[in-house]
Amino acid sequence: TFHKSKGQHILKNPLLVDSIVEKSGIKSTDVILEIGPGTGNLTKKLLEAGKSVIAVEVDPRMVLELQRRFQGTPLSNRLKVIQGDVLRCDLPYFDICVANIPYQISSPLTFKLLAHRPVFRCAVIMFQREFAMRLVAQPGDNLYCRLSVNTQLLARVSHLLKVGKNNFRPPPKVDSSVVRIEPRKPLPPVNFKEWDGLVRLCFNRKNKTLGSIFRQKSVLSLLEKNYKTVQALQLSGPSGDAETEMDLTGFGDANEDQSMDLDDGRDDEMEVVDGNAGGEASDFKEKVLNILKQGNFEDKRSSKLTQVDFLYLLSLFNKDGIHFS
Ligand code: SAM
Repeated sequence: TFHKSKGQHILKNPLLVDSIVEKSGIKSTDVILEIGPGTGNLTKKLLEAGKSVIAVEVDPRMVLELQRRFQGTPLSNRLKVIQGDVLRCDLPYFDICVANIPYQISSPLTFKLLAHRPVFRCAVIMFQREFAMRLVAQPGDNLYCRLSVNTQLLARVSHLLKVGKNNFRPPPKVDSSVVRIEPRKPLPPVNFKEWDGLVRLCFNRKNKTLGSIFRQKSVLSLLEKNYKTVQALQLSGPSGDAETEMDLTGFGDANEDQSMDLDDGRDDEMEVVDGNAGGEASDFKEKVLNILKQGNFEDKRSSKLTQVDFLYLLSLFNKDGIHFS
């Protein structure tokens, strides 16, 4: 019996398993991390291709079945099974991650892997098609979103294979895709919390102009609050450097993106109204709008901005003491 809540869809097409392993570019010296090995169809081929496999599986019945499958075979001494939830356990060293995962952990798992140290060479992962297309989406694409921008800040992402439902037993409701994720080396020198803070604001209304997003009262008052905090901290001495902090919990969460993309239309009026209703807030508003003008961002939309654009925009804000976390 399969556990639906654990996303137990077993790969039953051996040609597809071969193709995933082949496209992973596994070397005979590689330590491979597999997440959710299930009954071990992929595990077997991974063991044949690499040096060793560490497989993390949450379901004790699957762990037993896996151990039974390889017991007494020459492959068994190169397989280590960790029983547990991959999101809760400390990951060991690995060179490459290859996995057919339960789709409900896609986003947290992706960012857990990207925060892992030392940085691995690459991850080849089966995702739900729509999630995969969000990961690889480029500026101007329909699915370009916070998840795309945050992932692509940390990694190069490419689509490898389209996989139909019928390759699994039982077949899931959605189509799938295999994606390659290669962490960037070195990582861009940005504070990730701040980066995410900016990207989150921008994609809150991804088809609005930045001019209209940064005119919203809620946005201005949030930024002004941060601004005053930073100024107060600076007066009381230099603060620590948070640049290398890598807590990516919730970073670019796809579900959040979906709800945030829902445009309730309420801010339409704000594009028209540009008065200084807020009185004392106007200096700060001018400061923000000047930054947008400097970089020629006022009429741009997040849905079209590249990584380089976001990096530049963040640097302009930071230069004037405006922060997003
Ligand atoms: N890799 C196998 C295959 O391709 O045939 C099975 C893939 S199945 C889609 C996902 C597997 O992940 C299941 O065996 C399930 O028990 C396991 N799983 C679900 N949630 C997990 C979690 N949080 N941590 C580790 N494994 C998990």
